[in-house]
Amino acid sequence: MQGKMKAAIQRKTGTPLKIETLPIPQPGPGDILIKVTACGVCHSDLHAIDGDWNPGPVLPLIPGHEVAGHVAAIGAGVKGFRLGDAVGVPWMYSACGQCEFCQAGMETICKAAEATGYSKPGGYAEFMLADAAFVARLPKKADLYAIAPILCAGVTTYRGLKRTKVRPGQWMAVVGIGGLGHIAVQYAIAMGMRVAAVDVDDEKLKLAKKLGAEFTVNARKADPVAAIQEKLGGTHGAVVTAVATQAFEQAIGMLRPAGTVAYIGLPGGKADQIRASISAITNWELTVTGSNVGTRLDLNEAVAFALNGLVKAKIQKAPLSQINRIMNDMRKGRIVGRMVLDLA
Ligand SMILES: [Zn+2]
Ligand SMILES: [Zn+2]
Repeated sequence: MQGKMKAAIQRKTGTPLKIETLPIPQPGPGDILIKVTACGVCHSDLHAIDGDWNPGPVLPLIPGHEVAGHVAAIGAGVKGFRLGDAVGVPWMYSACGQCEFCQAGMETICKAAEATGYSKPGGYAEFMLADAAFVARLPKKADLYAIAPILCAGVTTYRGLKRTKVRPGQWMAVVGIGGLGHIAVQYAIAMGMRVAAVDVDDEKLKLAKKLGAEFTVNARKADPVAAIQEKLGGTHGAVVTAVATQAFEQAIGMLRPAGTVAYIGLPGGKADQIRASISAITNWELTVTGSNVGTRLDLNEAVAFALNGLVKAKIQKAPLSQINRIMNDMRKGRIVGRMVLDLA
């Protein structure tokens, strides 16, 4: 497909995004070209443009990894797609398929993996390329705006919950009820878990309660570790979606013996270090694990929950031209739920 497209692009780390008119990219072998309908704005996009992570993004950067749209062109060798098919593109742009981790179905930790909207151009654009082998197939009538946040916030929280191995009927602490956390609460409940929600904002805790959390604690007003240990005897698992270091430290203390906490959020920069009690981890046989977005299987499972109506992101649509304002609101923690760019 020939022609031009609008995209939000950053040519130097730490500068605001600029809306530019660029040529529509051409699909190479194995690629599909996607006409973007919706792209969720994830906190990771903010880390990318602020240059918080090492290694930094490939410049020039077009962020966006919660992309839903339709196939607009098909590269050589791609099978099983037709023009107009609805697809979703997650953070995991591609993986090598050959290394021991890919062979084990752990492509999230493939060292040759590429990241959408970080090492590859993402969905803050009217068109983008994707590796056909790594996109999610969506039904024709799916609401692409509602599905967009599921492609990162959904799959990421779902995998995090899975990695705690918490069973139905057991307690899960969801620490941080933002864009990821409010979705984590819903997955946990859909998976049969009982949810304790922790945040520093009463509005967000109210949302968690509405979504089914049985126990909430405002970490600014009370010690969440003491509250959860006293009232629940600790939780079997915890997922941390917050961006404050202290939340990661506290989540270990929320566990009951043999509990597992999965770290999902990435504070970045100076906030990247935690202090933890070795004796607590040793004596109580606790597990601290990471969870890095999700595999293709996680993606398809997470999308199925949403398509079946079990999980719904609270979204707010905005035009691409608003992106820098959205980023500023995000910096200040002012966003409830998920912002979704409308590119249609
Ligand atoms: Zn994300
Ligand atoms: Zn690999």
